[in-house]
Amino acid sequence: MIRQYELVEKIKSYDPAMNEDLVNRAYVYAMKMHGAQTRASGDPYFSHPLEVAGILTEMKMDTASICTALLHDTVEDTDATLDDIQRLFGEEVCRLVDGVTKLSKIEFQSAQEKQAENFRKLVLAMSEDIRVLLVKLSDRLHNMRTLHHIPKIEKRKRIALETLEIYAPLAERIGIHKVKEELEDLTFETLNPEARESIRARLNYLRAEGGEAVVARIIEELKKKLKEATLNAEIYGREKTPYSIWKKMQRKNISFEQLSDIMAFRVLVPTVADCYHALGVIHGLYPTVPGRFKDYISLPKPNGYRSLHTAVIGPENHRIEVQIRTPEMHEEAELGVAAHWSYKQSDGKVDGRQYRWLRELMDIVEHAQKPEEFLENTKLELYQDQVFCFTPNGDLIALPRGATTVDFAYAVHSELGDKTVGAKVNGRIVPLNTALVNGDQVEITTSKSQTPSPNWERFVVTGKAKARIRRFVRMQQREQYMDLGKKMLEKVLKQKGYDYTERTVSRDVCTHFRVDNVEDLLTGIGSGHIASTEVLYALHPEHKPVQPSQTPASFIVQEKKTHQKGKSAPMPIKGLIPGMALHFARCCHPLPGDRIVGIVTTGKGVTIHTIDCDTLESFADTPERWLDVSWEEGEDSPESHVGRLLVTIANEPGALGTLSTVIGKNGGNITNLKIMNRSLDFWDMMIDVYVRDSRHLSDIIAALRATPEITAVNRARSR
Ligand code: MN
Repeated sequence: MIRQYELVEKIKSYDPAMNEDLVNRAYVYAMKMHGAQTRASGDPYFSHPLEVAGILTEMKMDTASICTALLHDTVEDTDATLDDIQRLFGEEVCRLVDGVTKLSKIEFQSAQEKQAENFRKLVLAMSEDIRVLLVKLSDRLHNMRTLHHIPKIEKRKRIALETLEIYAPLAERIGIHKVKEELEDLTFETLNPEARESIRARLNYLRAEGGEAVVARIIEELKKKLKEATLNAEIYGREKTPYSIWKKMQRKNISFEQLSDIMAFRVLVPTVADCYHALGVIHGLYPTVPGRFKDYISLPKPNGYRSLHTAVIGPENHRIEVQIRTPEMHEEAELGVAAHWSYKQSDGKVDGRQYRWLRELMDIVEHAQKPEEFLENTKLELYQDQVFCFTPNGDLIALPRGATTVDFAYAVHSELGDKTVGAKVNGRIVPLNTALVNGDQVEITTSKSQTPSPNWERFVVTGKAKARIRRFVRMQQREQYMDLGKKMLEKVLKQKGYDYTERTVSRDVCTHFRVDNVEDLLTGIGSGHIASTEVLYALHPEHKPVQPSQTPASFIVQEKKTHQKGKSAPMPIKGLIPGMALHFARCCHPLPGDRIVGIVTTGKGVTIHTIDCDTLESFADTPERWLDVSWEEGEDSPESHVGRLLVTIANEPGALGTLSTVIGKNGGNITNLKIMNRSLDFWDMMIDVYVRDSRHLSDIIAALRATPEITAVNRARSR
């Protein structure tokens, strides 16, 4: 058991300005309150909070945290109250003790939802002050160290499982690698003692077989080689924990004998530049093991971890793993958040990039719909939905998972995407639809004559690439229509002996057809929205026949014939795929004149909706099913479209008669009438009326609104 003065000395060694008096009082108070209580081991209970405080001094924590550690079980397990703590030790310590006490009260149930719910509380509590979590983790670490004293195996296993599923990952998330590793190994000891024992036995055997001497010789040689390269390096042989070996055996499905890199080494050099220098020296001397190099310095892990990792066939042909880092990185790697803890800081708030995950975790807490979802999210590695790739210059490009080389090209630059003809990933030529993985270096080959291919749309995943490709395809279509429109106009002009020139079409003519410029007019002609003959008549009214219907636009008629082979009634919609069945949506009852879109349904053809129909939302994710369509212009079909009205009329004699008279007078033909709601004073009805187009329906609506018996009239937009 650490003595009182030893504890104080330890804190003083890293925090000379510590509040010695407060720590002394907390020490005495906790010892007094726990009194004769004992632990399962038979030790005085007070040894536990004292050990927890000791763990926190290793993390160089502040006075308040140490006092919290000493007092953390007093409120829960003794007569002490939070008021006492506040009175004796102040607001800050009281708040921290309260936080830890609350965390300790959480019972993790095996039922997932419950566990997630509690986990949420845990994280929330933690986020209030990161020191609460640090004290709690230290508490758990000491409890795990002494777990073997608990007689009941079930209880031991439950605590171990909870540690493995909740506390070890939390320690990892905040980057306290040292605590995480120990927690995992202690867990392993409880949950799978046989496996751990066998791995330990083998490690001992290897050591006895001269392993230790080998490690010493490797360190010696590495040191010498680095020294020759003017690098002042500290090198440690690092034996992996049984748990990490076991996990690797499981993950890679290999036996202990196949596990060749049990020997791991840590190289500490003064600066970041030295790290890369040391890496260069090691890679220059020994063959590297492919796929094992990782640069967590330029691309730190989400928890802020930085280091260079590599594996080489090192001295004496031993396959070894090497981690290269600066002492600063090393401290961060071991202590995480605690390494950044400044005991001069009193508000307990954390910031900086390594705590980005904390905010994101909070985001998940806030926005996760279901507790299980939250658990799912927090159990997953953060940033799992992203891949990070490099340009040949080493610029980092973050992309969503599943992104391809084309997405990459568009992410770098729109022009680069447009001109892409090929891609190399890590020096190898790959198909353009290759999905990228973390760390890929991507080189895009371009050609000036290349344009985006509509096929790309099938495999790209980023919005930027999609939008750009689609825009190009539309532009291309527009250019084709414009070309066609120009040819059509030239043709009808030539028939009357005129030549088409740049200046043929005046601004007035454009205004007449309600287009902004000549290009739009030509596009309109090419796409069939504007009849070329009508343009001719606008330019030269003397050619306009007295009976307009006798000279239909020749080109359009031909187009119609080829489009609608075998159909008796002309199709009122333009932009359809020939041969496809056509339906009008019953949710919005589109009418000629409405702006419309077609939705393609496999096996059912195309359904036409108005552009403002609510139903369209459900197709937002499948843009490939959307068809750009419009009403055939000049379609003078009789009242052949159904418009749906919602009408409220007064419940009085003759009202219904008036309604049908108004509709009839305005050329509408009621085809269906349903009373939806009948009250004493009013009737709500749904009326389907045959109309020519949307304007026709608007006229009817206006007429109905002008009728006193009719209270309200609206067009039905969706069911
Ligand atoms: Mn405790």
